[in-house]
Amino acid sequence: MRQNKRIRRVILSRLYDHLLEQYFVPWPREPFVAGTVTEHEVDAVLAFKSDVRLDELRTALDRLDHGTYGVCISCKGRIPLESLVLNPAQRLCATCEQLLAGSELQAMRRGTLL
Ligand SMILES: [Zn+2]
Repeated sequence: MRQNKRIRRVILSRLYDHLLEQYFVPWPREPFVAGTVTEHEVDAVLAFKSDVRLDELRTALDRLDHGTYGVCISCKGRIPLESLVLNPAQRLCATCEQLLAGSELQAMRRGTLL
């Protein structure tokens, strides 16, 4: 549970960073740390914005709420916390990611990847 709170803060922090970088939405750090800027407020802004990174981070929050966060979507294995802190939107374990990268590389060599 404490781990979920920590990872939620990491995900929200990445969301704020992304909003600031992409849309210059200056979310104040202090209110966020104090917990006065809610996910609902973020959602209100995000309702008008859509991009891949935002979708990844929002999906990560959904997975956290549904208890599937940190589980590889391919092999159902656990994704290490250290990896999730580095990339909170990670959905594949390192093994599956390498397998995917390998198959994409093969597809590129065959010319079947667009
Ligand atoms: Zn996996």
